[in-house]
Amino acid sequence: MTFEEAMQRKRELNFWERIYVPEIVRGVALTSRHFAVNLFVHTAHLFGLLRGRAAAVTFQYPEEKRPLAPRLRTRHRLTVRAEGTPRCVGCMLCETVCPAKCITIVAGEHPDPNVEKYPTRFDIDLGVCVYCGYCVEVCPEDAIRMDTEILDIAAYTRDAMKLDIHELMNPRLRKPVGECTLKFPHECRVHGGQKPNEPAPIAGSWDAVYG
Ligand code: SF4
Ligand code: SF4
Repeated sequence: MTFEEAMQRKRELNFWERIYVPEIVRGVALTSRHFAVNLFVHTAHLFGLLRGRAAAVTFQYPEEKRPLAPRLRTRHRLTVRAEGTPRCVGCMLCETVCPAKCITIVAGEHPDPNVEKYPTRFDIDLGVCVYCGYCVEVCPEDAIRMDTEILDIAAYTRDAMKLDIHELMNPRLRKPVGECTLKFPHECRVHGGQKPNEPAPIAGSWDAVYG
């Protein structure tokens, strides 16, 4: 629809709407009706009456949080194996399917020959993500989920909306990340990327690589 068409669909205000006062009275009457009905029904509930009639409830957010539906998609997390390493095998399917192009993965050779790859870097830009959940659906390893129940993702800068592998593996972790505790070579924004003198990943355990 063009702008002109949208403007034509706009209804002209009638005389009573143009002088505003009747509309203000109408709005106040509507709000007052909701207030009176809710007060009456909540009071009735206190006495065990009108149980079948629902009344509006105000959640005192953030102290009180509304129950979330189990299928709700919330902030992403990367699932980890028993030894704490990411389940992700760096197949890039999620990065490829993402319609917002907000996933960045750099895959590296895994030190364990039974695992082909692992993510040396895994970023998601939540400022761009549309929460479609395709990345979760497509993952063959159940390595990424959107079940953290974290909804408060607001930040003061666009950069702060970008989650790195630390925050994705530990959803409670928030920037700034003080110390990198991951036991494998990876691109770490906190440390300015992979350290130049880091040994290349070799066959063996994660601890053998980094002690
Ligand atoms: S939820 Fe959708 S937009 Fe967000 S990272 Fe996953 S695939 Fe991309
Ligand atoms: S999260 Fe899953 S789909 Fe994405 S690269 Fe890792 S294994 Fe592949």
